[in-house]
Amino acid sequence: MRHRIAVIGSGPAGLTFARVLHRHGYPAAVLERDASHDARPPGGTLDLHEGLGQLALDKAGLLAEFQALSRPEGQAMRILDTDGTVLRDWRPRPDDRANPEIDRGQLRDLLLGPLDVQWGRGVRQVVPGTRDGVLVHFADGRQEPFDLVVGADGAWSRTRPAVSSVTPHYTGVTLVETSLDDADTRHPVLAELIGDGSVAAYGVNRALVAQRNSGGHVKVYAQFRASLDWHTGLDLADADAVRSRLLALFDGWAAPVLDLLRHGTAFAHRPLYVLPVSHTWTHVPGVTLLGDAAHLMPPLGAGANLAMLEGAELAESLATGPGDLDEAVRAFEERMWARAGRWSKITTTGLERLVSPDPAEALALFDEVQPS
Ligand SMILES: Cc1cc2nc3c(=O)[nH]c(=O)nc-3n(C[C@H](O)[C@H](O)[C@H](O)COP(=O)(O)OP(=O)(O)OC[C@H]3O[C@@H](n4cnc5c(N)ncnc54)[C@H](O)[C@@H]3O)c2cc1C
Repeated sequence: MRHRIAVIGSGPAGLTFARVLHRHGYPAAVLERDASHDARPPGGTLDLHEGLGQLALDKAGLLAEFQALSRPEGQAMRILDTDGTVLRDWRPRPDDRANPEIDRGQLRDLLLGPLDVQWGRGVRQVVPGTRDGVLVHFADGRQEPFDLVVGADGAWSRTRPAVSSVTPHYTGVTLVETSLDDADTRHPVLAELIGDGSVAAYGVNRALVAQRNSGGHVKVYAQFRASLDWHTGLDLADADAVRSRLLALFDGWAAPVLDLLRHGTAFAHRPLYVLPVSHTWTHVPGVTLLGDAAHLMPPLGAGANLAMLEGAELAESLATGPGDLDEAVRAFEERMWARAGRWSKITTTGLERLVSPDPAEALALFDEVQPS
């Protein structure tokens, strides 16, 4: 295969794509906007499913390393009532490897391995069908031609407009994220409450979820239904002010649950946007999308998994297929759309039930999906 291939973005989708191509002996230019691999905090923990993210890692030859790094015990899940009563307390069997957790930073480093990412190369626009091929325009004014450009550049993809005019819309649910460090030493009561995995409490149109990461780090997510301008008059950079507003929003919940917010230090505001369920496009030769760029959906444990499997599958079919680049991409897109459409429906319904006027819906959903 002698094609000039670029992947835009070094998230789970882009890195898995490049790593699987690399395993088959083919290069891809990985073009990333961030200035370096540690330019910003990598984020929380991801559970990688056996038939999705783990399958992708297998295709990259990285499954054994993942198994050594990941936390099967992190699958544990405790559900509380807003008064602190434990409603469910599910723990995985010791040999359960269905959805182990891994820190995003660990996953990124695992995938990066020998890849030579081009950092600080923010893309402004992708223009297919030029005499030189697909032209990538960079934020610094430079441009470069390729035969195939794979947009793995996330929710606000600059590649997407080359194939689709659709843009993400707000779900009506906002997430505010905070974290606790050294939880076992500094917040032993909360560490006990969280256990090895996650703890969640669901109230009317709101939820609080805390997830253990490695090294005693905990991510806390406050989720609530609100209009996009809910923070009018609030300085989102003022941690004390955001904390007070959240405590008012969750007023009446049990003290240990609210302590998850009280002890949070910095707060990040993440309104949840999605692409329409079953987003597809008319195939454009030389350009395709992977992951959130193609099918941004509510964050219910599927997005990174799908992104990785798509990256692995596209790379594999380019490397081992009959050689017609465009045919391989077309066939891949059909497969991606079918699978992502199914997950998009599941996660959209899931978000409606988890952050809903009837908190019993969240418990019912947990009982439906959790193995007994
Ligand atoms: C709070 C939260 C928890 C989640 N938990 C889970 C989970 O447990 N399991 C799961 O499967 N999914 C989870 N998800 C979803 C998951 O994070 C995403 O679906 C996944 O990161 C998508 O991967 P991606 O590679 O498509 O995009 P991204 O991870 O968004 O990566 C995109 C990359 O492209 C780069 N980029 C963007 N624009 C440009 C540009 N113009 N030029 C160059 N580079 C650019 C970005 O810097 C970034 O590196 C969660 C999401 C959230 C918000």
